[in-house]
Amino acid sequence: MRIFLRLSFFVGLALSSFGSFAQSNSLFAPFDCRKHAEYFVEVAVVETPVIDSSSLIMIEPELVLEVDTINGWREWTYAENFTYGKDRGTLSMITDLSALHPYFRDRILTLIAKCKEQGIELAVVESYRTHAKQSEYKNMGRKYTSSKAGRSKHQYGLAVDLVPIVDSVAVWDNTALWRKIGVTGEKLGLRWGGRWRKPYDPGHFEWSSGLTSTQLTAGYFPPVPKQNEMYPCLDEDLKLLRKYWKEWETSQSSITRK
Ligand SMILES: [Zn+2]
Repeated sequence: MRIFLRLSFFVGLALSSFGSFAQSNSLFAPFDCRKHAEYFVEVAVVETPVIDSSSLIMIEPELVLEVDTINGWREWTYAENFTYGKDRGTLSMITDLSALHPYFRDRILTLIAKCKEQGIELAVVESYRTHAKQSEYKNMGRKYTSSKAGRSKHQYGLAVDLVPIVDSVAVWDNTALWRKIGVTGEKLGLRWGGRWRKPYDPGHFEWSSGLTSTQLTAGYFPPVPKQNEMYPCLDEDLKLLRKYWKEWETSQSSITRK
């Protein structure tokens, strides 16, 4: 199936500067909306043609998107405890940016790119978080979280924890470095946990446009700027995301019960 794809700046940026992210990122690229059942592969033609200057022939680059709506959640990257030098409990941390709300994910990809321009390499410590994982943090004490299950933005794909990597090591305690990262995130409209005291959480970025936990729990998501142009399939994507989140919840809560 051939369809036109409106390739957004952010996705373009992601594809060009994040080889490793490109595949997972394309999952939620702005896209002709999906009326598909279980597994589908689509070939999209990028709307802006590339002109080959030597022959002046228009080349249509193709982008192959494979989406497995049944088992896609199993392909998300995750990290085990102490990966970034800290005790973060026994349940795995989901680190895949595809696990985030598409608009927020693109803000984070931009943050990572902007930091890279400043010579700062960032790693994703945790993106989406299950209720089971949030409960584990809650039980680990106040320096981990002040939010009980259901109250963290991580549980709605609207928060992420990052850490700068210097010489292959996660650097948690460089205040000046955190500040650079934090200010860069704030310029992108993100809320930065480095402004907080209880707990001070400089690796945490979130976006909720002022929506409360109660509204999020009730199933609302923040309004997305230019949704129709940039994220025409947002509703479909969020529906699929919720399905993946539920699968992770089932998987992690079964570990907790053992
Ligand atoms: Zn966080």
